[in-house]
Amino acid sequence: MTLFSPVEMAPRDPILGLNEAFNADNRSEKVNLGVGVYYDENGKVPLLRAVCAAEEARVAEQGPRPYLPMEGLASYDAAVQTLLFGAESSLLESGRLVTAQSIGGTGALKLGADFLYRLLNKRLVAISDPSWENHRSLFEAAGFEVVTYPYYDPQTHGVNLEGMLEGIEKLPEGSVVLLHACCHNPTGADLSLADWTRVIDVIQRRNHVPFIDIAYQGFGDNLQDDAVALRLFAESGLPLFISSSFSKSFSLYGERVGALTLVTESHDEMLSTMSQLKRVIRTNYSNPPTHGAKVVSAVLNNVELYAKWEEELAEMRDRIRIMRSSLVEKLAAAGVTKDMSFIERQRGMFSYSGLTKAQVARLADEFAIYAVGSGRICVAALNTGNIDHVANSMAAVLK
Ligand code: PMP
Repeated sequence: MTLFSPVEMAPRDPILGLNEAFNADNRSEKVNLGVGVYYDENGKVPLLRAVCAAEEARVAEQGPRPYLPMEGLASYDAAVQTLLFGAESSLLESGRLVTAQSIGGTGALKLGADFLYRLLNKRLVAISDPSWENHRSLFEAAGFEVVTYPYYDPQTHGVNLEGMLEGIEKLPEGSVVLLHACCHNPTGADLSLADWTRVIDVIQRRNHVPFIDIAYQGFGDNLQDDAVALRLFAESGLPLFISSSFSKSFSLYGERVGALTLVTESHDEMLSTMSQLKRVIRTNYSNPPTHGAKVVSAVLNNVELYAKWEEELAEMRDRIRIMRSSLVEKLAAAGVTKDMSFIERQRGMFSYSGLTKAQVARLADEFAIYAVGSGRICVAALNTGNIDHVANSMAAVLK
């Protein structure tokens, strides 16, 4: 008997496990649609030109590398607030916002979860059915009970709004409700402006605590419209938790750049909340890393670099849209008679393709195409070089 001998193998992460299987596959036509990463037309993770320019300036500066404050780089935190709420928002000058730079969007969720654990007696979180797998694990690990509210309607491939409203209504008063601001992961099905108003209404009536995850701002319609839920929530006067991430929008996955933003009711609340949030940070990792935040801050706070970034973000978004339309067309051309046009209506990086577990397994075995067992495919991993193989293979397993 050794110290570690009782340790059992943990279950494989469903998505990271897929990467291992993909890497071990020797077939040259292999395609990985399992990831949550944007690849460009050449199948590469892009390095944005705006990021490159900011990095060159940073290296040329040859500055020292001291610790950042616990809540991160001030110019970054302020730029995050502007991006989330819009430059004209009265919230920016209200003294009611708390923003702490975080270790990616995941880190923001974890900070929020740890903070809420200390704040609430009822530790219940409701996530969408389905949701990003890590939402459940992360809140469970932070000590919460996690339940789901209905979200996806497989018949329409869109949102089951009535089911969602009813599910949220039925939660015990004061539950935490986790929502995706845009580009829902994994379904690609989003709420409309009118839908959001109804969701806010139920949350307000039931005294729930809204926690909005925005990991894909700019991948839906544009930076402003993708944040509309945040702005509506802010107008409603509800307290608010927001986790945001630049992993995708800046293609800075490995630099871990995100933020947790809270909307409090007064300047005093902001001060006490920030002081407690700092304790959570201090006892977890003390203070965040510098590089990603410096780069993002340099871009967001410079008119020219900002314009360049917005352009590059639009390029990514448009390329995904083209891939969506092209996939729908090619599936029909390959003989799929079922209406697959929902793929074009879904937004962001993913599509819930409707493929069954068995069909996903066939795609991997027979065609070297890797997708998540739920049928989620990453449309952002398609390109003109692999889309024919993907469409023909999907058509073969759908028949
Ligand atoms: N939330 C959602 C909905 C996501 O899809 C992701 C990334 N896959 C995250 C949060 C985490 O983002 P990050 O990689 O910045 O930690």
